[in-house]
Amino acid sequence: MPEDDMSDEPEIVLPSNPITPTKLDLDNDFQFACHPGVSCFNKCCQSIDIQLTPYDILRLKARLGITAREFLFRYTVPFEMDGQGVPGLKLKTRDETTACSFLTDEGCSVYSDRPTACRYYALGVVSMRKKDSPVDEDFYFVVKEEHCQGHAEPKTQTVREYRQAQGVESYDELNREWRQLVLKKRSCGPVVGKPSDRSLQLFFLASYDLDGLREFLQSPSFQEAYEIDAAMQEQLRTDDVALMQFGFRFLKHVLFGEKFLTEKPDALERRVARRRAREEAEQKAAGT
Ligand code: SF4
Ligand code: SF4
Repeated sequence: MPEDDMSDEPEIVLPSNPITPTKLDLDNDFQFACHPGVSCFNKCCQSIDIQLTPYDILRLKARLGITAREFLFRYTVPFEMDGQGVPGLKLKTRDETTACSFLTDEGCSVYSDRPTACRYYALGVVSMRKKDSPVDEDFYFVVKEEHCQGHAEPKTQTVREYRQAQGVESYDELNREWRQLVLKKRSCGPVVGKPSDRSLQLFFLASYDLDGLREFLQSPSFQEAYEIDAAMQEQLRTDDVALMQFGFRFLKHVLFGEKFLTEKPDALERRVARRRAREEAEQKAAGT
């Protein structure tokens, strides 16, 4: 709009927007570099808002040598990813500050296992699926925050080169099924109504609590319900990545009916018998 067209309008100050609204694809260039020599080194880690993915949690808990539950308890805060109650987790800040718990004077103490969002910065990514398309389409944009001097560095690279250098590709690949699931759950929301508590609990378990998921898969109720061969049982016991991916497929199976497991022929009868036995035991204990 020419400047004169606004001459009668009151003067307003538009809020600054850190996102440069230019859609980039993998082969587009952008100018940015981050290294310990920049004057703002570590500034971005002093005020964080980082959403965690299942693979982020898997890598960080392995790095710290703790269980998933301990990691969730010590390093995360819950939030709702949408209006449907779908649970998300963010990285907790250090007590009474906005700084990341993993930040030290020397920089990030978990750098080679840092979360996806840290790897992407200063790029953002949006995944969308066009109507009638079977695949998601990712597009990227630059996030320019005032404190970040990396945009003044002379280096340019394509989005593809940046993703490779930051190790984002394997993270995105391993989280892909989960992201699809989240998108699908969001888009189904208004149609099917609020998800049940049980489906939200299952979503949490399969997305974030790998140790809890492993226990659940070994429980009598699960073992009695589904056919799982010995090789797969062993893999689920010993391989966290295989367990995580099994969890994503199990969620699709339960939430969206995308059949992935075969039920045992007598699964229903066993479930009923076990429920009866439990009710009888409860009645006995209550003296009724
Ligand atoms: S995990 Fe590392 S890179 Fe990410 S915010 Fe924390 S200190 Fe910074
Ligand atoms: S250049 Fe940007 S990303 Fe790098 S340390 Fe500074 S604020 Fe963080």
